[in-house]
Amino acid sequence: MTYLMQFLLVAFVLLIPMSCQQSKSSIQSKENKESKVAATPASMASDTLKKVVKTAAQWKGELTDLEYNVLREKGTERPNTGDLLKEKSAGVFTCRGCQLPLFSSETKFESGTGWPSFYQPINDVHVTEETDNKYGWNRVEVLCARCDGHLGHVFNDGPKPTGLRYCINSVSLDFVKE
Ligand code: FE
Repeated sequence: MTYLMQFLLVAFVLLIPMSCQQSKSSIQSKENKESKVAATPASMASDTLKKVVKTAAQWKGELTDLEYNVLREKGTERPNTGDLLKEKSAGVFTCRGCQLPLFSSETKFESGTGWPSFYQPINDVHVTEETDNKYGWNRVEVLCARCDGHLGHVFNDGPKPTGLRYCINSVSLDFVKE
């Protein structure tokens, strides 16, 4: 065996693991890129959820007195009075304050409470929940994640599959028919 052949053999043996290492790291970097791409929708969601902030005067100019009282002052509409209580069409219930999609008609159910009821939000990040101990009750308030408008409360006595009941003021919602 010539020195040249010995050299080529040694070089070949040394290069195999190096090339494997390279291809492994290139796969890893590809995986990293893909995970960054996969993360893009979440960052888009945070753009969608860029806070809508308005003064009381601006809200009053856009909302009726009742809508303002419920959305901005955490009031409650009288039961069985909401326009959307008996809405049974297919579509999406959006925030009356900022039009963010909040609930799908597919998750609406008849709770018998007199307020529109849903068993889950259209997207978990579109609503926020806060403890509400007003009037000595231990309740969980539900708010629009974008404009912080008061929507209603969520309780643990809903139907399957979630067992949750989002009890939402009709005046806090708009309805976009499919
Ligand atoms: Fe909103």
